[in-house]
Formats: sequence, structure tokens, C-alpha cells
Amino acid sequence: MKAEIVATGTELLLGQTLNTSAHYITGKLSSLGIEVDYHVTVGDNPERIEDALRTALQRSDLLVTTGGLGPTVDDLTKALVAKVFGLEMVLDQTSLEHIKAFFAKRRGPMPAGNEKQAYVPKRAAILPNPIGTAPGAIIEKDGKMAIILPGPPFEMQPMFENYVWPVLQEKVGSDAERMNVRVLKIFGMGESAIEEVLGDLMQKPNPSMALLAKRSEMHIRLVARSSAETQALKLLDKAEEDIRARLGHKVFGKDRETMVGIVGDALRQRDLTIATAESCTGGLLGGMLTQEPGSSAFYLGGVISYANSVKENLLGVEAKTLASLGAVSAEVAQAMAQGVQTRTGAKLALATTGIAGPDGGTQEKPVGLVYIGLATPEGVQTQKFQFYGERKSVRQLTVKAALDWVRRYLLKV
Ligand code: ATP
Ligand code: MG
Repeated sequence: MKAEIVATGTELLLGQTLNTSAHYITGKLSSLGIEVDYHVTVGDNPERIEDALRTALQRSDLLVTTGGLGPTVDDLTKALVAKVFGLEMVLDQTSLEHIKAFFAKRRGPMPAGNEKQAYVPKRAAILPNPIGTAPGAIIEKDGKMAIILPGPPFEMQPMFENYVWPVLQEKVGSDAERMNVRVLKIFGMGESAIEEVLGDLMQKPNPSMALLAKRSEMHIRLVARSSAETQALKLLDKAEEDIRARLGHKVFGKDRETMVGIVGDALRQRDLTIATAESCTGGLLGGMLTQEPGSSAFYLGGVISYANSVKENLLGVEAKTLASLGAVSAEVAQAMAQGVQTRTGAKLALATTGIAGPDGGTQEKPVGLVYIGLATPEGVQTQKFQFYGERKSVRQLTVKAALDWVRRYLLKV
């Protein structure tokens, strides 16, 4: 089944609102194995909306519209869908009662404009809207299907989940081809390096494999197509196994897993605590470690030691080390990690010191040079990194590299 999404709303064309609904609906349709061929966005103009709808109806089997179900004169979508399907608009009593009740509960009498929202294309299935006033609708005629949804995502999404999803699931049937997606997440390897290692695996059609570069990590997206979900999952498992066999510990997680989530879980499971001493990341690392609820189980705290004086006074880094080697050095990273480890009593401690840029780089110590220190019960080690990119990237890469080091330390790789 070929689908097309028509989003209406001038605000989408003005760049005031991001069309998140197209993104959301496409994800849902894809996971049902419905191929989305077009995303169309059109302003609140009746001629252009009608034109977009006619075009969609010609080339697609399923048409999903969002927006334009409101009470105002520029809310036209439902009537125009009815028009292109050759259906009249009729009053739906249930929807009218719902809208009246909605206003009775809130602001008293119903404004005249809202009655319009209770009109629906004849013989359409009505999709209730428990959050707002505008009902959605599903039309099926001559082998084509149209699904009419409201604009506000907080109304559209529950309507889709509760009423559209089951209808589509049934329509697609159990034997239609399904798409199952898995994302593997990689740290510490670039796009071309991954491509080189995976080479032949990337050419296979099922599951298909795509590389997506994120700011501080790489994602491999696997898409398996199969009539049965179990078969698709088997294909994904096999591909994941092959990828892990080649990339090893560079794969840190998959799907919804995050680096910090994985590190947090690993610390919790081992009953370990961690503290941080940050220079170039200025608190980003501590911020990241406290991102998820329950982080107090493992994160004790940290020192943002941006100035040398703070490195000396709060972490005990020696003035002569700072003077002779500079703040961006392995020795200082080591002293910072040890300093915060002893002062907090944490089992593990991370330290970051580097040149985030854009200024402050020299021939010897260029922008992107970062030292990370990791203190453990076995001692303290440092690693030197040379990152590339703008300030934001350097700082994020530093945080990710520090967490990745803890991950690998805990997994003993
Ligand atoms: P209302 O009753 O609120 O007028 P509506 O169904 O007529 O609902 P629109 O008027 O088209 O919907 O849009 C209402 C609001 O919903 C917009 O201002 C915008 O914030 C949001 N919205 C609309 N379409 C989208 C979209 N495709 N993606 C994200 N947000 C959207
Ligand atoms: Mg509106």
C-alpha cells in the first residue's frame, strides 16, 4: 500500500512550526509495512489544498491529512477531502454532543463556529477526540482510503494510537510485508572506517543497512522486511550478530539505549559510585550523568574546575604541574581525577581537560586536544584525544569518550 501524508497549515510553510506529524505518522506507517511515498505540505488555501488532495488521491492508496479541523474559517480540510471523494458533509450527532459537553465543562456556551466541527463526510467512520473538539474521520471509497486527523500533535497522536492504528493493522493484514527497524549505536569510529569494516554486509538487501552520522556517535539502521515479525526479528538478530562480530565493543548499544543509560546501569549493577572533575566540559559530564532519574545511586558529584586556582584549591592539583605542563596535560587530568576521587570517596572518578576552541589552540596544543583521566580502585590512567569540529562537538565528544571509557572499564574490554 502506497501512502501520502498531506499536512495543512500556513504556519508549517512559514517555518514557525516543524512538521513533526509527518515524521510521527511516517514512522507508524513504516512499521506497519506501509510505504510512504510523499510528504506534502500546503498552506490554508482551499484551491491549493484541493489540488494537493486530488494529486494524492491519484497516486496513492492511502491519504493521511493533518490539520485544518478547527472551528475557524481557515479550517477546511474535512470539507475538501469530502469534495474530492465526491461525498456530502453530514452532521454527526455524537460529535455535536461531545463538542457541546466539552464547552459545558469549560467555558459555557458553544461558539457557533464549533458546530462546523461536527460535520463529517457521509459514511465516514468517526474518530473521537477526547482531548479536543475536532473529531477525525476515515473514508474508504473506490479502493482508496483517507484518514483525516487534527493538527495539534497532542490530539493527533492519541487519536492515531487508539483509533487509526487498529484499523490500519487490520487492513494491512497479518500476511503483508512488515518492516522492522533496529538501530545499533557506535562510538569511536567514523563513517568511512565503519563502511570499510562492514563492506559486504552493507550491500545485503534484507535487512538493508544505512549509516547515520550523529554529532558524537554513529548509528547503523537496519530495516528488515518480512511477512512475519518473528522472521524479521531473526533477520535483525543475525545482522546484529555479524556487525558485533566485526565492530566488537565499538557497538555500545541499540535502539533506545543511550551511552549514559548504559553506564548508569552498569555502575548500579556493580554498586559502584562515580565523581567528576571537569575543565573543558564545564559541567556537561555531570549534567549528563544526572540526566536520568535514579542517578543519585551512583553519581556523587563533581568539581567544575575551569580556572587553575580551582584545580589547585579544590582538587589539589599542584601549582608547579600546572605551571610547567599546562592545564591541558595528562598529568593534570590524572591529578584532577585523583583529587576528586579522594575528596568524594567515589570508587571511580573522571576528569576532563582540553581545548574546546575556537580560540586557545597552539601548534603544540591544537583545538580539540583533550586529556581524560579515569581513577579506579586499581589506579589512575589518562588518555589523549584529538577531536575535530566546533566547540559544541568537542565538548560533546569529550563527554561521550569519558563515559565510553567507564563503559569499557566496567565491561573489562
Ligand atoms: P485547531 O482546532 O487547534 O485549529 P486544527 O486541526 O485545525 O486544530 P491546525 O489549525 O492546522 O489544526 O493546527 C493547530 C496547531 O497544531 C498548529 O498551530 C500547530 O502548532 C500544530 N500543528 C499543526 N499541524 C502540525 C504538524 N504537521 N506538525 C506539528 N504540529 C502541527
Ligand atoms: Mg486550526
